[in-house]
Amino acid sequence: MTVPAYKRILLKLSGEVLMGDGESGLAIDPSVTARVAGEIKDAQAAGHELCVVVGGGNIFRGISAAAKGIERATADYMGMLATVMNALAVQNALEQIGVETRVQSAIPMSSVCEPFIRRRAERHLEKGRVVVFAAGVGSPFFTTDSGAALRAAEMKCDALFKGTSVDGVYNADPKKDPTAKRYETVSYDTVLADNLKVMDASAIALCRDNNIPIVVFNIREPGNLASVLRGEGVSTVVQ
Ligand code: UDP
Repeated sequence: MTVPAYKRILLKLSGEVLMGDGESGLAIDPSVTARVAGEIKDAQAAGHELCVVVGGGNIFRGISAAAKGIERATADYMGMLATVMNALAVQNALEQIGVETRVQSAIPMSSVCEPFIRRRAERHLEKGRVVVFAAGVGSPFFTTDSGAALRAAEMKCDALFKGTSVDGVYNADPKKDPTAKRYETVSYDTVLADNLKVMDASAIALCRDNNIPIVVFNIREPGNLASVLRGEGVSTVVQ
């Protein structure tokens, strides 16, 4: 097997990626989660090491709850707990298809999953396991995008793959502006200066300072993670 360009990747999945469509109305749809797990299995079979960070926006978003009267820090802790639910769903889906998986949470909860221990996570990867990182950075006023950038740096990932429902980064909102153009590559500084919707500014800055490319691609398209990893699919690389 030839060594893939990005050997170790961190895959960031927004909570919405695990959500059912309008019909099922489920916050975590087992069939959707199973499909995403299949993509992860294929990437692993192609020789990649996979860290995964899951969001929680399909269940609970701190900032929205704060706007309705819950204290912001409390709401954010609730949001972090939501990411643990998603992490368990991803672990379950992966183990159902034979991929050994460990969940590590930034908020220790010993009867549910492991606490985040970088060296232990490293060992799991060496043993061919997928590691799912839950609870973001473990502090309120952050998001799981920042958690993804932080874990990507700590785990020495070669790239951060941000799976979304669009096929890359555009210079304008493609849903509103028909002339919007997708970047093949774009610099961290352009993303920050033009406030392009990729990830939080803090996550972008952390990736920039640690030279971690961010690959933005559509995870809803079956087989796309594998093709983007082969350098074939449609994506935008922020570098
Ligand atoms: N959150 C937090 N600190 C973190 C990560 C997440 O407080 O380090 C909370 C925050 O309230 C956020 C929620 O968890 O709204 C869910 O995460 P996020 O919005 O990043 O999920 P996604 O949009 O990726 O589904």
